[in-house]
Amino acid sequence: MKLICIGRNYTAHIEELQNERPEEPLLFIKPDSAILPREQDFYIPEFSDDVHYEAELLVRICKVGKHIDPRFAPTYYDAFSVGIDFTARDLQSRLKEKGLPWEKAKGFDGAAVIGEWVPKEQFAGREHLNFVLEKNGEQVQRGDTSLMLWKIDELIAYISTFFTLKKGDIIFTGTPEGVGRVAPNDYLVGYLEGKPLFSLNVKG
Ligand code: ZN
Repeated sequence: MKLICIGRNYTAHIEELQNERPEEPLLFIKPDSAILPREQDFYIPEFSDDVHYEAELLVRICKVGKHIDPRFAPTYYDAFSVGIDFTARDLQSRLKEKGLPWEKAKGFDGAAVIGEWVPKEQFAGREHLNFVLEKNGEQVQRGDTSLMLWKIDELIAYISTFFTLKKGDIIFTGTPEGVGRVAPNDYLVGYLEGKPLFSLNVKG
């Protein structure tokens, strides 16, 4: 399975990193080895001094599809969650400067946190799903699908023109503003519509 991630999908986050607003969705892939097993602590890798959390809404693909029409996209996913796209920001900045791929900064072991899945039927609509990340008991990020530049169904259509989507693939739909550094002993909790779906400790 693969993790397909979207960059720059919220205007305020594009501004905080002083990135250009993309003309089409920015895609990258994390390997499945990046998934942090449930209940495990996150260890800051030794090659970075500036690992950032990026809380994101996650979408789980439930059947194979290619060239999916946005109208039919909802039949290709069955659950939502919230997760973290951990990013070695210092390494990513160096790679970006040189125009090199980001994989080392985004795809390292443990860089993908995946919360518990909630069947999509449990939500009245997907137009206004809100998610929150708390760090040490304080809210640091808050996102809402209504603020996405590209909505879930458009993302699925776009992604599937390049990559065949398979059952079990997971889409990380991009992070809102408020990204920041993690430090040893931080405690992170992710919520979807007020329900906690993951929690983890950061270790140095
Ligand atoms: Zn991200």
